[in-house]
Amino acid sequence: MTTERNIPVLYLVIPCYNEEAVLPETTKRLTEKMHTMIRAEQVDPESRILYVDDGSKDKTWAIISEYAEAIPYVDGVKLAHNRGHQNALLAGLMTAMPLCDCAISMDADLQDDINVIDRFVEKYMEGCDVVYGVRNKRETDTFFKRTTAEGFYKFMKILGVDVVFNHADYRLMSRRALEGLSEYKEVNLFLRGIVPLIGFKSDYVYYDRAERFAGESKYPLKKMISFALDGITSFSVKPLKLISNLGILISVLSIFGLLYALISHLCGVTVAGWTAIVASIWLLGGLQMLCLGVVGGYIGKIYSEVKQRPRFLIETHLKAEPEEKVLDE
Ligand code: UDP
Ligand code: MG
Repeated sequence: MTTERNIPVLYLVIPCYNEEAVLPETTKRLTEKMHTMIRAEQVDPESRILYVDDGSKDKTWAIISEYAEAIPYVDGVKLAHNRGHQNALLAGLMTAMPLCDCAISMDADLQDDINVIDRFVEKYMEGCDVVYGVRNKRETDTFFKRTTAEGFYKFMKILGVDVVFNHADYRLMSRRALEGLSEYKEVNLFLRGIVPLIGFKSDYVYYDRAERFAGESKYPLKKMISFALDGITSFSVKPLKLISNLGILISVLSIFGLLYALISHLCGVTVAGWTAIVASIWLLGGLQMLCLGVVGGYIGKIYSEVKQRPRFLIETHLKAEPEEKVLDE
């Protein structure tokens, strides 16, 4: 593929988990957008909106299959099980890879401004293989989410992990970038960390993040924390090094403590220090537990990577042949 590009076949890849409340509006707006872009010859008529149902428990799949049948440009993939946002996204991107020239991943809840899709495609036409959507401001997020997210990005920077600040998973990837992505076989998937590793020419598109259109966030605090931990432990072994350093520091300090106790004893100053002993036992015990926990975390990662389990299984792929779909004028 050269940088001289023809009108691309664009796939909009949208993971959905219990999104029955937003799908009608999202589909309405996206099909309109698709229609306009096809008519303006910005994208090829083969372009599609590809919904990935991530094992939803509500009517999400029923709605998607209904749309896939009735509406041109809408396709659907159903995962056999709920595998989480990142795996669902990967399933969609890998399904789109052989069929598209470029794919844009976005959320189902209309938080990602669909008006910047044109700019993504322009950047692609200019030769970019990856275009990151970056949020201008995060006023629509709660104060808590904003500050924790900021802390997370800063911490990742300190750890030396290359993540794009304020970029979620709204991004365009060319087919060759997707092929690059397919070479990363890790099970603990953190796309925001992997995509910058792929390389190729990249650029940014800035947008304002809207409120969730309807329904509830599928990222409650518990999931957010585990996502952040996954990001850190999948991309950096620095925490392991920090622990070793902490271990060295504590050992040195305890040698001094021991010397002090020995000298006090030899000088005949017997300390009744029961509290100190108990406190230090607890402290050391606690630190050891912490260290073991972190080491265990990494071992857990190795365990799941070694197993090489499939990251997703597609149950159904509804894809009408082009001639079956009639574009409504
Ligand atoms: N999602 C998914 N599987 C999950 C959780 C979420 O496919 O297990 C999808 C969800 O339907 C949405 C996107 O991932 O399209 C982002 O989730 P959400 O909007 O709830 O996250 P937030 O924007 O609140 O961080
Ligand atoms: Mg959202």
